[in-house]
Amino acid sequence: MSVHQCPHAGKTSCMRPTSLQVESLINQAEQLCEQRQQRFTALRRRVLTLICQAESPMGAYQLLEFLQGDGRSAAPPTIYRALDFLMAQGLIHRLASNNTYLACAHPQQDHEAVFLVCQHCGQTQEIHTDGITHSVQEKASRYKFKVLHTSVEVAGLCAKCSPGFNPPSAGGLA
Ligand SMILES: [Zn+2]
Ligand SMILES: [Zn+2]
Repeated sequence: MSVHQCPHAGKTSCMRPTSLQVESLINQAEQLCEQRQQRFTALRRRVLTLICQAESPMGAYQLLEFLQGDGRSAAPPTIYRALDFLMAQGLIHRLASNNTYLACAHPQQDHEAVFLVCQHCGQTQEIHTDGITHSVQEKASRYKFKVLHTSVEVAGLCAKCSPGFNPPSAGGLA
């Protein structure tokens, strides 16, 4: 695994990217595709941009609506191929719980992600915590199970949707 050099490392969450950050993510994506000799087509770029700009993770049909708004005649299989490509390149993540997609804030790094998914507004934050994936790997190896990928989705309420939320004090739930 590569050394984690994320500018957000140590913080508990990554904020939604600003337009400058969106631009930088798209540039990174372009470079990565070039290095890997993959074609970063106009459609792939557009889909990634839409996902980066979204306030909460987007579903394939939402993306389709945006593309149709662009005047593109994109069919669902086209969208799914673009999404598969972006996932394979590590540029986006898929949330299995609601079948939506969100941009990865640090596509250059090999990482396992944990997602905090607000059940009320849908806002989702990617956080990095190696502890969970290490522990999963350790337990899995006792069953001689080879872990290929770990994705953890945590359902809850974001700060905006749970005003006055105070985490239970240590031992409070013990
Ligand atoms: Zn990520
Ligand atoms: Zn919320």
